[in-house]
Amino acid sequence: MTAATELAQALTRAHGAAQGGLVSGALRRVLTLWGVLDIENLDDSFAEYLRLAEPVLAEAKHNSAKAAAGYYDMLRAAEGVPGTSQAGRFLADLVTSGEMELTLGPIGPTYIRKAMADGMTFEQAARAAWVKQSGQMSHSILGGSRDTLAHRIERDDRAIGFQRAPFDRNCCAFCGVLASRGAVYKARGAAITAKNGKRYHTHCRCQPQPVFRAGTPLSDAGQRFHKLYADHGDINEVRRHLDGRTTKNEAEKPSGGSADD
Ligand SMILES: [Zn+2]
Repeated sequence: MTAATELAQALTRAHGAAQGGLVSGALRRVLTLWGVLDIENLDDSFAEYLRLAEPVLAEAKHNSAKAAAGYYDMLRAAEGVPGTSQAGRFLADLVTSGEMELTLGPIGPTYIRKAMADGMTFEQAARAAWVKQSGQMSHSILGGSRDTLAHRIERDDRAIGFQRAPFDRNCCAFCGVLASRGAVYKARGAAITAKNGKRYHTHCRCQPQPVFRAGTPLSDAGQRFHKLYADHGDINEVRRHLDGRTTKNEAEKPSGGSADD
């Protein structure tokens, strides 16, 4: 691996780690606000929670976008791409009040009431709702970076596409297999901006890594899942393997047995 490639890999890992830090920092702050939730006054207290959480999320998303713009420029330089790319619109002005109500509302009071009707205590229901809230918020924060990167890639003639860069090699099979497929090229008409975001599930910590040349090595996770997929040939089999269940491969090859049926 060349020094330039190693630098590019290191920048991508650092970007992922920084994004993870932004998310956990913001979620820690919002979790303290989640405490205002009051069973006696669920709707009003939830509205109060949204009001308090909004600036925290807006700041985190802004920082996510800002870090992505810096990462893009550094990565581009590390890859030896001449010139500068069009900075374009800075995608930071993103958390509108409508957005929060739209995405967090349905997993708020309605969700909690339903869970309690199904037999959970308020504490259990609130905890389950928080898991959903935090997944949605992390998706929204990381959208700052993902959208910024997609936007830059799309408008940079020197960028040929992107590849999925999971946070680490222990990501889920869905993300790992996508990462193992390498670059998604702009020339193939892949929608980089509009549809890209929808492919990041909640609690997913992947980022799009801009690709400037053919032969860009896969991320660690991409390499790991490339091998897993080659060994098992099917994402469900990869999942079975990761869960420690018996895969078809193993079932067909009992140790010491012969396959003459
Ligand atoms: Zn992911």
